Amino acid sequence: MTAACGLLPVLDQEEDTPSYEMSDYEGARARWCPGCGDHSVLTAVQRLLAAEQLKPEQTVFVSGIGCSSRFPHYLSTYGFHGIHGRALPVATGIRLHRPDLRVFVVMGDGDCTSIGAGHWVHAMRYNLDMVVMLLDNAIYGLTKNQTSPTTPQGFRSNTQPHGSWLPALNPLSVALGVTNASFVAQTAEWVPSHLYATLRAAYAHRGLGFVRILQRCPMYSSAVYQAAVQDPARIGLLVHDDGVVVPDLEKVYTTQVAHDPHDLDAARRLAGVTDRIHLGVLFRDPSRPRYEEIRRVAPRTAEERLVELNLELDRYAV
Ligand code: SF4
Repeated sequence: MTAACGLLPVLDQEEDTPSYEMSDYEGARARWCPGCGDHSVLTAVQRLLAAEQLKPEQTVFVSGIGCSSRFPHYLSTYGFHGIHGRALPVATGIRLHRPDLRVFVVMGDGDCTSIGAGHWVHAMRYNLDMVVMLLDNAIYGLTKNQTSPTTPQGFRSNTQPHGSWLPALNPLSVALGVTNASFVAQTAEWVPSHLYATLRAAYAHRGLGFVRILQRCPMYSSAVYQAAVQDPARIGLLVHDDGVVVPDLEKVYTTQVAHDPHDLDAARRLAGVTDRIHLGVLFRDPSRPRYEEIRRVAPRTAEERLVELNLELDRYAV
């Protein structure tokens, strides 16, 4: 577990409360490759933390294994760099036992949609209050170029040198198919204003805010999103007052798709479109039940928790 450290927030003289700048959330120097889309996501996250004035000591980032999972090291919040595919169980435990913390989860496509897929589906159903980011570069990058579930069919990698055999898994369709999913959005790291607005919307949502972030890996899968990066006509912006509104983008991305994010059937149809990439909030329903609300227990002291823990352990004594 990494820890909040080195923070010297500026004190607001009138309010006598700390005021955080983006730089206050900087951790270790990011070691991703030059041009890696993860850098853009890190900047957007630091911007979000500063905009929301989140206290570093009350914010925790949880990750699994992969390039993007180095995220917690690069922030001055608390963090848990876990094991492959298990970020969501760790985050669930933190959320249930420390409801005072704001929880963010960072996973790659191999992490989330392969080894962690079971946890992903059930975390979406439990709908705990957290922001879950899937940084999808459609490849295993950390282990140097293996096919992941989201690798496009025919894309060559070290493990499938003749091209990926199967159609890619669609994370949006999976997420929108989970019972009790409450927020599903898609954005792209090369559209930073949209990325930031989408993360803010996910943070504002009460429940699990799932955001698929299309992320370039210039080292191994640069071709996957290249056409969409170069040709804005390949992108459709989902527009609605309850979605993400970024007026500055309307001149660049002229394909605007009116979409009510409360319409689940329409969201599922949009998720299945293959000839265009849709960016925006596909689905949002804040009325869906949250496990933490259903199972909320009264706050307990550390001593009370210790007594409970020992009673629980005694049950398994042999
Ligand atoms: Fe980023 Fe790809 Fe390099 Fe990993 S291998 S740090 S995903 S560019």
